[in-house]
Amino acid sequence: MDVCPVACIYEGADQLYIHPEECIDCGACEPECPVTAIFEESATPEQWKDYIAKNRQFFEENPGVQAAKGKGEIGSGGMGPTAVQWPS
Ligand code: SF4
Repeated sequence: MDVCPVACIYEGADQLYIHPEECIDCGACEPECPVTAIFEESATPEQWKDYIAKNRQFFEENPGVQAAKGKGEIGSGGMGPTAVQWPS
């Protein structure tokens, strides 16, 4: 998670989530994921596409989420969303 330059990876109860508007699509997190669960949205495998909506829903339902452990201030910016499916 420390690899994210804008600290837009958040910790949910069941997985980590990437803020779709804060993410700058730099791709730095993809090779760091230990379970190969992060994809640029357009490259998300079919079997994981439901997680794109789950990711967005997390931020809609949790507007006050805190940055993931070890992260600093929340960044801003935002090009497109990145899908993440990161089992705990
Ligand atoms: S692609 Fe998005 S979530 Fe991943 S490191 Fe870059 S800004 Fe952070």
